[in-house]
Amino acid sequence: MARKNRDELASWDEPAPEPVFCPICERVIPEDQRDEHHLVPKSKGGKKTVLLHRICHDQIHSIFTDAQLAKKFSTIEAIVEDPAVQTFVTWVRNKPPSFSDSAKESRQSLRRGR
Ligand SMILES: [Zn+2]
Ligand SMILES: [Zn+2]
Repeated sequence: MARKNRDELASWDEPAPEPVFCPICERVIPEDQRDEHHLVPKSKGGKKTVLLHRICHDQIHSIFTDAQLAKKFSTIEAIVEDPAVQTFVTWVRNKPPSFSDSAKESRQSLRRGR
């Protein structure tokens, strides 16, 4: 009995990290690419979040405004049905999970400098 308990404890020492899947592109999200998306934007009182790739998250916010997200696209189903999102998903699915379009990010941060 005592020995059995010890064995069970030993197997709990290093739990395997749970893979997190991105609901947009359905690929695994590496830990350093995880971004929280508010299904209803925080500015509209939303609290529920989902984990997405940083690149998928950026894409959603470049396609939709906060008002659109709050009104029409407050579910993953609605977001992925949008043709612009589908075009992006088709493209990003062929990239490795850790892929991030750094050229695009720096262009965006320049534009965002305000
Ligand atoms: Zn977001
Ligand atoms: Zn993704």
